[in-house]
Amino acid sequence: MDRPAENIQGTKKLCAVLQALADCYGLSPWNWHTNGDPFRVLVGTLLSHRTRDPKTDEATRAVLEHYPTAKDLAEAPVERIATLVRPVNFYKTKARRLKETAALLVERHGGKVPDQERDLTALPGVGPKTAACVLVYGFRKPAIPVDVHVHRICRRLGITTCPTPKETQGVLEKLVPARWILHVNELLVKHGQTTCLPRSPKCSRCVVAAWCSDGRAANVATEGS
Ligand code: SF4
Repeated sequence: MDRPAENIQGTKKLCAVLQALADCYGLSPWNWHTNGDPFRVLVGTLLSHRTRDPKTDEATRAVLEHYPTAKDLAEAPVERIATLVRPVNFYKTKARRLKETAALLVERHGGKVPDQERDLTALPGVGPKTAACVLVYGFRKPAIPVDVHVHRICRRLGITTCPTPKETQGVLEKLVPARWILHVNELLVKHGQTTCLPRSPKCSRCVVAAWCSDGRAANVATEGS
């Protein structure tokens, strides 16, 4: 089936943006919790909500050092897990979730992390974004996790005007070609953490400013002329 002309234009722009970001940041994961086996990625992603990556990495390492398998974690006292994950925000809630999730992995999947979205989202605290992270970073299977960084940058670049990350995910699924699908999240998150910051984006040093439809990029062009 033919693709609509606006999708072809959108794909071209997105590919140019992703290539520029790949040239700038490279293509390997930055974070320990997103670079490894599916259980590590699942634990790290559950701990990452509203927490900076270094704290997430610290807590994920601590948990897996003491409880390297789902069975170990399912049998661990929740108070002990809470102590280990204390660096992250909402650590008590997250400790309970980790234990519940580990118990269900043992009960339903023989202690392994499933590689199907429907099985992942049936676990406590695992929404579409977390499931997509596990698929991409744990199994290297195609999925597009859309978090606040990805959503914000796609809107600023004019790739989407959608109001929610879920809708942005739908747009990206239509636009992103197969060769970029495993890298979209990583590249946009890196850009969002270093340059396209939520409050004060550093447009003057942005490698994708040429494609940005946000007003701040236009201001930079004017400043430089
Ligand atoms: S030009 Fe500014 S707003 Fe646009 S993507 Fe770059 S940093 Fe973000």
